[in-house]
Amino acid sequence: MDERPEEYAWMLKAKCRGISPTEFFPSDGVGVEVAQQICDGCPVVAECLEYALENRIEHGVWGGASERERRRILRRRRQAAAARTADSEPLQAVHHA
Ligand code: SF4
Repeated sequence: MDERPEEYAWMLKAKCRGISPTEFFPSDGVGVEVAQQICDGCPVVAECLEYALENRIEHGVWGGASERERRRILRRRRQAAAARTADSEPLQAVHHA
């Protein structure tokens, strides 16, 4: 019986179960594409990607996303969060001399 905590339950449905983890830590672009082909059609691709983003996992292919793609997603999220914060700030009074 698997005794992983609930937050890891999605891993039981991973398409890559049984595949060597080294496939997901490629050293070049070709290796990234091979890993992404494995991820293609994985039933837990969204959970996998979110796990990597939330845990700031920098290396490897997770949820079909390369290291660079995940950095881009995180950057976009930070920018969107900053824009939301700016939108919700009260307007500052502007004083002219
Ligand atoms: S998305 Fe890719 S790395 Fe993640 S569980 Fe599925 S096959 Fe594995």
